[in-house]
Amino acid sequence: MNTKEKIKVGILGATGSVGQKFIALLQNHPWFEISEIAASKKSVGKKYKDVVDWIIPNSFPKKLGNKIIKECKPNLDCRIVFSGLDSGVAGEIEKDFAQNGYIVVSNSKNHRMDDDVPLLIPEVNPEHLEIIKSQKFNGGAIVTNPNCSTIGLTIALKPLLDNFGIESVNVVTMQAISGGGIEVMKSDIVKDNVIPFISGEEEKMEIEPLKILGKINSYKINYAEFPISAQCNRVDVFDGHTECVQIKLKKETSVQEIIKVWKNYKYVPQIKELPLAPKQVIHYFEDEKLPQPKFQRDIDKGMAVSIGRLRPDNLFDFKFVVLSHNTIRGAAGGAILCAELMYAKSLL
Ligand code: NAP
Repeated sequence: MNTKEKIKVGILGATGSVGQKFIALLQNHPWFEISEIAASKKSVGKKYKDVVDWIIPNSFPKKLGNKIIKECKPNLDCRIVFSGLDSGVAGEIEKDFAQNGYIVVSNSKNHRMDDDVPLLIPEVNPEHLEIIKSQKFNGGAIVTNPNCSTIGLTIALKPLLDNFGIESVNVVTMQAISGGGIEVMKSDIVKDNVIPFISGEEEKMEIEPLKILGKINSYKINYAEFPISAQCNRVDVFDGHTECVQIKLKKETSVQEIIKVWKNYKYVPQIKELPLAPKQVIHYFEDEKLPQPKFQRDIDKGMAVSIGRLRPDNLFDFKFVVLSHNTIRGAAGGAILCAELMYAKSLL
């Protein structure tokens, strides 16, 4: 495909933490080019460089600096909109775009649990994309990306579910400050601190993996059936969510077998070699001090999931640590991979 044929995309919430990652990751994308950026009324009509509080080191996109920020109204010149909108407003705005024929790929929670909306991790449940055919929009569609902590956990669980079955899961997260958006990043409350509450996060982590790991049948997703207990904490790390997981499996197995199925795991994005897909989905580290956000979050463009410390557990069967980049794998990068999958399946 030559550059002239690239698909035009718009970024809703372009000034936010996730919006900025969309912009950074879409520079020089082989299939998509940013034609529109949009945000709230306070930013509309201004040049991007004059309002954005750019937080990604050394990567400000100079060619977008003078671009004028538009309103989040469905009159943008693009086919796809990637949404990094605040969840207080995302629901209605995203629906409005879909009803007006746009493909919406969203990071916000609002439509994730709708029956006809796929909650997509391209390496885990690409077949759930089918469900958009049952949506009642005029040529538009809504596809959602799961919560940032759900993504790392669910990618770790998928090979275990396929090979051994899952009885139950307990997870405790240590989540980066960039996950709280620009306001949290600017506040001092997270410095030298741990906040043992993230609004709505535990509920999302306890239900989203079950939808993602569910089976689709005649446009209906039958949720996976095992209990998940989650405790979520905000910690003083810039990027990268770390999760301590305990798991009870249905079949007996060994540490070596589990590591083997993680290392060998791949699915449609790897087979189709989608541009943003990690070459290896899961990296397992034998060093007992790993994974750590500072050293592993950026592996393979920030799209790989890192796991370590797999060992037997006294209460469950096994315990381990998972790490993934929250604004790349867990947000903008994951959403772009969803759109790449749609492109590869001729759904755009
Ligand atoms: P953020 O930094 O607070 O950014 C929010 C964006 O929404 C800004 O661009 C803001 O524009 C825009 N906005 C706010 N009110 C608006 C309105 N009334 N109309 C139009 N635009 C409006 O938040 P974030 O961390 O990027 O998160 C964005 C979404 O992604 C949230 O739903 C969040 O839950 C989800 N998410 C975040 C992460 C993460 O790691 N950060 C991961 C997964 C999912 P202005 O600057 O003009 O106000």
